Amino acid sequence: MSKTVCVIGAGIGGLMAGALLAKEGWHVTVVEKATTVGGSAGSYARKNRRFPTGATIAFGLEERGLLDTLFHELDMNIPFELLHHPMDILLDDRKISIFRDKTEWENEMRRAFPERIGDVLAFWRRLEQISEAVYAVTETRVSLPIQRLYDLGNLPLHVLAHPGSMLQLARYATHTVEDLLRMYKLDSYTPLRQFLDAQLLDAAQTDCTEAALLPSSLALNIYRRGSFYVEKGMGQLSEALAQRIIELGGEVLTASPVKELQYEDSKWRISSRKRNEVYDTVINNTGISFGPGTSHSESEDVSWGAYRIDALLNASFWHQELNGRPLPFALQIVPEKEQAILYSDGHGPVYVTFQPAYNRQHEPVEDEIMMTCSIHTQSKQWEQLSKEDYQDKKNSVAKAMFQEIQKVLPVEDYLLYSEAGTPLTYQKYIGKTEVGGFPLTVRNAILKPKSVRSSHPQLYIAGEQAFPGPGTLSSALSGYHAARAIMKSHPS
Ligand SMILES: Cc1cc2nc3c(=O)[nH]c(=O)nc-3n(C[C@H](O)[C@H](O)[C@H](O)COP(=O)(O)OP(=O)(O)OC[C@H]3O[C@@H](n4cnc5c(N)ncnc54)[C@H](O)[C@@H]3O)c2cc1C
Repeated sequence: MSKTVCVIGAGIGGLMAGALLAKEGWHVTVVEKATTVGGSAGSYARKNRRFPTGATIAFGLEERGLLDTLFHELDMNIPFELLHHPMDILLDDRKISIFRDKTEWENEMRRAFPERIGDVLAFWRRLEQISEAVYAVTETRVSLPIQRLYDLGNLPLHVLAHPGSMLQLARYATHTVEDLLRMYKLDSYTPLRQFLDAQLLDAAQTDCTEAALLPSSLALNIYRRGSFYVEKGMGQLSEALAQRIIELGGEVLTASPVKELQYEDSKWRISSRKRNEVYDTVINNTGISFGPGTSHSESEDVSWGAYRIDALLNASFWHQELNGRPLPFALQIVPEKEQAILYSDGHGPVYVTFQPAYNRQHEPVEDEIMMTCSIHTQSKQWEQLSKEDYQDKKNSVAKAMFQEIQKVLPVEDYLLYSEAGTPLTYQKYIGKTEVGGFPLTVRNAILKPKSVRSSHPQLYIAGEQAFPGPGTLSSALSGYHAARAIMKSHPS
């Protein structure tokens, strides 16, 4: 009889783990609180339209990329579009466009950072070199912290083949991005710093001062490898994984929040709304705790909440240009200092995307565009408000975000519908106010990465809180690491 595994939480990490285990012959049951799968990389329907719950840009889907390889192993094919001009970052005094093409990107840096271009290019080329070395190590499928021999993946062979590049990584292992800026005397060059902070806040959940250089180098350069719009939105990727689990003989139970975990007779009893059953092994991919040692959410590390606005615009908005170019997929707008509410309650850039609109049944709505806007916020502040103060604050943040976007593009002239969500909205749908995982500081990324193993027998932890950290690609990789640990430790 095949062994059984229960994956709690159908976020992308849990779904990846479940699909890989199902492929290896495990009987997989995914138990999910929400009515749809995907968590922060899912979708929800409102007004007969489909909006993303969080993530909009995918990474790792390039041929033989980190995610492409895993989908290949699962015999899955995900339709997507490569983004050549994924993003514009708008600072108070300049705009920086991110390009896939390396020459275009270097030319853009020449245009955007003319005051210190020599140092900026030298800094960026070093960053790129480090990111190549980090990527090669990631490809070995090493899993941190190394607790078993198989956690090493192909790292030993890689070290033997590339000792020079490994020495370079060792040299930078405890550096922050700011340390590298300092080496090029760029730490007080404000435009570059603001640009990096905006990028890092979204990718590493912290800024130059704290972001660990090694993973950040990868996050800052990943657009040259490829960034992608998944056709019909990121939720499709999660749904495809759930579908694959079912095809491989597993089950995905939605609208079935897990209430309790109990270890009895060397098995885990999982009690959820729709099922009360025992399993050989469990993966907690919820990011929430079911008792001591069941989740990394019990750690002292802070993580952010998200405030978001989902909107529909008239499709004639597609004709808009930004500085003589067609619209990029996304904008990161660094708010003006006068926007006190975005600095007291929010943090980092206002992140805006423009995508084709789809209805509840995933059919295109030709005469509309979907716009999503989000900003980091401290979730605790939202939890303590009275009903009236909550509504006031929700409206004020939306107004401030629209003002910032309107300064760049006349979105309000095309607006058909908008609806805001706060950390409490996330709490209602996915059971937690904090999303995005822990900041990729040197401690979290290098010195004390959070393992996919828990302190309990047969209980594993996956998702954005485990190594390698925040984002859909990292969460999916954590799912891979959890699945491998289970296959190796409990062979079926
Ligand atoms: C606004 C926003 C924008 C983002 N943009 C991007 C982006 O463009 N690109 C990118 O790569 N990443 C992005 N991210 C980050 C990315 O979405 C997440 O890091 C990733 O999706 C997290 O996946 P996960 O596997 O940790 O699971 P999660 O998405 O955290 O899912 C956890 C699941 O557990 C379920 N659950 C909770 N409690 C229970 C329970 N008691 N019983 C059963 N199930 C339960 C939840 O309902 C949820 O489905 C964004 C995040 C946000 C919030």
